[in-house]
Amino acid sequence: MGTNQTRRKFIKTGLALSAAGLVSSTGIKPAFGQEEPKVVYRTLGKTGLKVSGVGYGIGFVPIPEVVNKALDMGINYYDTSRVYGDSEKIFGDIIKKRDRSKLVIATKSGSRRKADILKDIDTSLKSLGTDYVDIYHLHARDTPTAIPDEALEAVHEIKKSGKARFLGFSCHDPNRMVDFHIENKFDVIQTTYSYAIGGFYRDKAIKKLSDAGVGIIAMKVVVALTGLNLQNLDNPVTKKGDGPLAGIKWVLNNPAIGTTVPHMKTIPELEMNFRAMAEPYTPADEKMLYVMNEQIRPSYCRMCYQCSGVCPKGMPVTDVLRFLAYNDYCGNYHQARMSFMELPKEVQSVRCSDCTTCAIKCPNGVNVQARLIRAQELLA
Ligand code: SF4
Ligand code: SF4
Repeated sequence: MGTNQTRRKFIKTGLALSAAGLVSSTGIKPAFGQEEPKVVYRTLGKTGLKVSGVGYGIGFVPIPEVVNKALDMGINYYDTSRVYGDSEKIFGDIIKKRDRSKLVIATKSGSRRKADILKDIDTSLKSLGTDYVDIYHLHARDTPTAIPDEALEAVHEIKKSGKARFLGFSCHDPNRMVDFHIENKFDVIQTTYSYAIGGFYRDKAIKKLSDAGVGIIAMKVVVALTGLNLQNLDNPVTKKGDGPLAGIKWVLNNPAIGTTVPHMKTIPELEMNFRAMAEPYTPADEKMLYVMNEQIRPSYCRMCYQCSGVCPKGMPVTDVLRFLAYNDYCGNYHQARMSFMELPKEVQSVRCSDCTTCAIKCPNGVNVQARLIRAQELLA
C-alpha cells in the first residue's frame, strides 16, 4: 500500500517536473505522432548546479562518437573516475574543443591516504585537461571506516584550493552512510537507486539526504533491465529495449534525484535513455518493470545488505554478486574481473561449490550459492 502510494506520488511529481524543466533542442527524430524529446535540467541539491536528468557514466572505455552525440544533445553531466583505466584521458580528449563552462564534470579517487588523494586530483585534472572538476568523489565508500580522517582532510583541502567545486562520495547503500555524509559536510552523494534495487530500501535515506540539501546522483539505474541475461527467454519487453527507458523514468520520478549516470555504448541506447527525461512514467511502465523485476529475482542482487547468516569463510557476498552483475547485466567482463581480482587472495580462492549448503539466505529470492559459484567460475 505504502509503496503504491509512493509510486502514484512519483508519477504525478514526475509529470510536473518535466513540464517545469528547462529544455533545449536535441535533433532526435521524434517517434510518429510525438514531439521531439527535450533535455530536462534539474537542480543538484544545494550545489545549485543545473544538470541534465540523464547524465553520462563515462565508464572504463567511453566511445567518442556516443559521448560527442550526448554533448551535442545537451547532456551536461559526465561522471568518471581515476580508477576507470584511461577513462579520464579519453574523455578529456573528447571535450578539448568544448566549452568547459557548460559541462558539469565529476571524477573520483579510490585512494584512502591523504597524500594519494592529493596526487589523484592532480592526475585527474591533467588527464581531463581542466583546472577544476565540479564534483570530486571518494570512490565506493560503503562504510564510514572507508573514509578515514586523513581522506576527509584531503578532500576538504581540495575544495578549498578550488580544484573541486563540490565534494561527494559514491556508495552502494546510502542507509549506512547518510549520517556520516551529513555530519562531514559533503555536498552530493552518488548511490545505487533503481526499480530493481528498490526504493523501499533506500527511500528513507534518500529523503533525509534530500531534506539536508544534498545533491543526489543515482547510479546502477538500469543495470538489471538491459535484459542481457534474459535473451533466451520469451521476453518481448526486453527485446524491445524498453526496460532501461522505463527504469530511468522511474528513477527520475523521484524529485529528490538530481541526475543519473547510465553508461551508454551506442547512439540508439543514448537516444532511448534521453527520451526518459521527457516522457512521463506511466502505469504501463510500472507493469513492465514489475514483470522484469520478477524475472531477474533469482539472479540479481539488490545490494540491500539484508542477507541473513554469516559465511564461515568470510565471503563478501554482496560485493561478489555486484561484480558478477557487471558482467551479467552490464556486459562488462573487464570491470567484473578487475573488481574480483582486488579481493583478498584468501577470498578469491574460496569455492562455494565445496559447501553442501550456503549459510547465507536472501529474503529477496536471490539464489546466493548458485550465483557465487558462477562468479568464481567466471572471474577467479
Ligand atoms: S543477496 Fe539478497 S539480501 Fe543479500 S544484499 Fe543481495 S539482494 Fe540483499
Ligand atoms: S556457499 Fe559456503 S563459502 Fe560460499 S558464501 Fe555460502 S557459506 Fe560461504
